[in-house]
Amino acid sequence: MALKFYNTMAKKKQVFRPLRKGEVRLYNCGPTVYDYAHIGNFRAYVFADILRRYIEWKGYRVLQVMNLTDVGHMTMDDVADSTGEDKIEKKAREEKKDPWQISSFYAGAFFEDIKKLNIKPAMAYPKATEHVKEMIKLAEKLIKNGHAYVSNNSVYFDVTSFPEYGKLSGNTLKNLKAGAGGRVEDNPDKRGPFDFALWVHNPRHTMQWDSPWGRGYPGWHIECSVMSIKMLGETLDIHTGGEDNIFPHHDCEIAQSEGATGKTFVRYWMHTRHLLVEGKKMSKSLGNFFTLRDLLKKGNDPTAIRYLLLSAHYRTKLNFTEKGLKAASNTLNKIRAFVQDMASHKPPGPVKGSRIDGIIRDTRENFEKAMDDDLGISDALSAIFSLITRVNRERDAGRLSREDAGKAYGFMIDIDRVLGLGLDELPMGSGVPDEIMLMANEREQLRKEKNFGEADKIRDAIKKKGFVVEDTPGGPMVRKAR
Ligand SMILES: [Zn+2]
Repeated sequence: MALKFYNTMAKKKQVFRPLRKGEVRLYNCGPTVYDYAHIGNFRAYVFADILRRYIEWKGYRVLQVMNLTDVGHMTMDDVADSTGEDKIEKKAREEKKDPWQISSFYAGAFFEDIKKLNIKPAMAYPKATEHVKEMIKLAEKLIKNGHAYVSNNSVYFDVTSFPEYGKLSGNTLKNLKAGAGGRVEDNPDKRGPFDFALWVHNPRHTMQWDSPWGRGYPGWHIECSVMSIKMLGETLDIHTGGEDNIFPHHDCEIAQSEGATGKTFVRYWMHTRHLLVEGKKMSKSLGNFFTLRDLLKKGNDPTAIRYLLLSAHYRTKLNFTEKGLKAASNTLNKIRAFVQDMASHKPPGPVKGSRIDGIIRDTRENFEKAMDDDLGISDALSAIFSLITRVNRERDAGRLSREDAGKAYGFMIDIDRVLGLGLDELPMGSGVPDEIMLMANEREQLRKEKNFGEADKIRDAIKKKGFVVEDTPGGPMVRKAR
């Protein structure tokens, strides 16, 4: 089956074909580093990670770039012309620091967070403030070819010069004029109310750079155009972001990039839907606003958070609840227990009638079929749970050899290249001697036969040898006593 993605531009699923054979150029709108990223932001980043991992699993080389916005992202970013206060400078004022301290601190926090969530590092994380020269160059090019104009030391993009403006969101000029684009600030410097800034002259802004139009700072949208084109070329295979990025951010990126190069900017646009917390839009006033750190402080397992974020399809609204997190943690432990069991499975007697190859073949097929269909994660995970059930049945029936268990283990580790649950880093299997595992298996068998007295005796014997058996919802786990 062919790999298909839902393309926001085409508004349907399309077969994915990268521009260059065997290579995929992927750009993700990254964080504005003015605060700790919240759990809704991480949904978009975990999605970008799964997307990249799956494309790699399919055998492509992926060049992934994620930007860090450290200037020019305004507080009112949902209106056509983005106004308000610079998010970084606002935070700097509140924390009585300078903007550079703010962005460097929160960029560091972002990298710590994505590591906790086992998100693979991108090839590059370009910072807006390190590409101001290129942004000025792009603005000059747009002025020269009639897409932008200078007014009162600022530079604006003339949206009437780009008839396709709004083609991604549907907020075309005609629809905007009919009132679909929400409020816009009255700005006498602009020729039209929906024109947006490429370069802003504002003496009150702290971060300033020299330009042909005087001192100023770049607009948010031009940052992504410049950095993606610089690192990945004029046409990207995939550009991702949250659904709130579609307008105005991505429509403005398209207008600037295609206005400058005359080429298709992005072949496939992919957007994650919003995340709700306990059924409501996250907000500080409702008390349902969580950063990753908030959740970790409560003792949650970061991998369970990752699992919860990835387990809902990226184009469905995900309702993040405490109950859901507990369930995710239980499911994750079940997967872990299975993997540990496979790593240490050493049946004492001979086994016959192995069915493992067929089980793995079915699962791989179903997993790939589901993921090929616009990353259908629910069916992909179902395939894995079905494998766990079937392999456990084989084990219980005495049909699973040590070699078979090794194959199941190897398969799970391979699938985990996509899921990123750290299954290859599980502590058990390596540190627990065969003798202890055999005792634990024997105890489990006794428990199944409801012979709890004998089972407890074995548990005590295991304890005397310095190991602990813990019964988790996913089955017993053995570890060294601390
Ligand atoms: Zn962006």
